[in-house]
Amino acid sequence: MSEKENCEISNNGEMNEMSNTGVIITQSATPLPEGVSLPLYMDNHATTQMDHRVLNAMLPYFSVKFGNAASRNHAFGWEAEEAVEKSRQQIAKLIGATAKEIIFTSGATESNNLAIKGIAEMYKERGNHIITQATEHKAVLDTCKRLEKYGYRVTYLPVQADGLIDIEDLKRAMDDKTILVSIMFANNEIGVVQPIAEIGKLCHEKGVIFHTDAVQAVGKIPVDVQAMNIDVLSLTAHKIYGPKGVGALYVRRRNPRVQISAQIDGGGHERGMRSGTLNVPGIVGLGAACEISGQEMEAEAARLTELRDYMQAKFEKALDYVHVNGNMEHHLPGNLNMSFVYVEGESLLMGINDIAVSSGSACTSATLEPSYVLKALGLGDDVAHSSIRFGLGRFNTKAEVDYVSDKLIDVVLKLRELSPLYEMVKEGIDLTKIEWAAH
Ligand SMILES: *Cc1c(COP(=O)(O)O)cnc(C)c1O
Repeated sequence: MSEKENCEISNNGEMNEMSNTGVIITQSATPLPEGVSLPLYMDNHATTQMDHRVLNAMLPYFSVKFGNAASRNHAFGWEAEEAVEKSRQQIAKLIGATAKEIIFTSGATESNNLAIKGIAEMYKERGNHIITQATEHKAVLDTCKRLEKYGYRVTYLPVQADGLIDIEDLKRAMDDKTILVSIMFANNEIGVVQPIAEIGKLCHEKGVIFHTDAVQAVGKIPVDVQAMNIDVLSLTAHKIYGPKGVGALYVRRRNPRVQISAQIDGGGHERGMRSGTLNVPGIVGLGAACEISGQEMEAEAARLTELRDYMQAKFEKALDYVHVNGNMEHHLPGNLNMSFVYVEGESLLMGINDIAVSSGSACTSATLEPSYVLKALGLGDDVAHSSIRFGLGRFNTKAEVDYVSDKLIDVVLKLRELSPLYEMVKEGIDLTKIEWAAH
């Protein structure tokens, strides 16, 4: 799940699946409830289905409205430029910025790279220290790691057991060489929302630039760069029902004016910060996605929170030894990350292979590694592996939530029947006191 998101368990459509423990899980042949079809998508932190309203807004820009937004001397260019400027305004409105502060990119991976590398380079005379946190997306962590090779010093703040950073840790980490703090708004695995306004206030008091990867928050919960003292913010279209391959970086223009060194050289587009002919259809889609999200956020957040709580309650009622990961008070509406203890993670996923969710495992080259985010919360490898991230989104229904939770409960009960560990726990044996025989 840790954003090697593409290593998903595939849906091969077979009725019976042999798990690697040799257990055959028979999928029920009962007809599907009305309104439910398979495969079923519940992985909306990885990507979202495009909203048809977004697609409709984009379509003309693939065909008749094909101009280059940088063509200043004819109507085709003006038409494209107008569409791009409209999108800038739609994005700015959603986050409390002004249109001039929006820079278009190819997505949040690029936005994060541009923000962190661009600030590191621009402010290197001032200092070489960057602060981030252990549970960031790889696009932030790996960018920081690269900067360490170039002589920058990076502090990776730990998180508490509920996934929140301790603001006192952040205060202590700051020194007179600190130029940048990069803390994500909301986590893509556990849905935890960091105290962004508090962090922003602290950074402004100390004169440190504050960047936030707000991919999972924008369009889902209120984001206001002014009220929250955010200086630089990354977002992407495909997590808010827009197209893949287009994103934006907000860069503050006053109080303070933030400068960023370009990381791509060329025609000087986007006020010199990001060269390259603009992806006009994608940009139109991003703008439309922002406008729709802004209009529907309140109702959608309420609906998804209710569905999420309903799902959590169903699991907790039907099963013992399940727990949620991450602080549930400071939490994204559509996120539920649960550990189903004493169940082997891979078998669990095999049992629900017609449902797209993410597990607490990430495929690295050949092996399954436990999620570094769950490990940062202090979860053991086994519990991390037995965790599932449900990502509810705009197109998920109550019927789907019922189907998924019933199915999962069924699979967990079956697997536990075969789990010696679970049996021992039920018999009151304290597993921590057992001395396992060495192999
Ligand atoms: C998806 C995601 C990204 C990467 O965005 P892309 O547009 O796919 O490059 C970055 N950060 C977070 C938190 C994400 O969820």
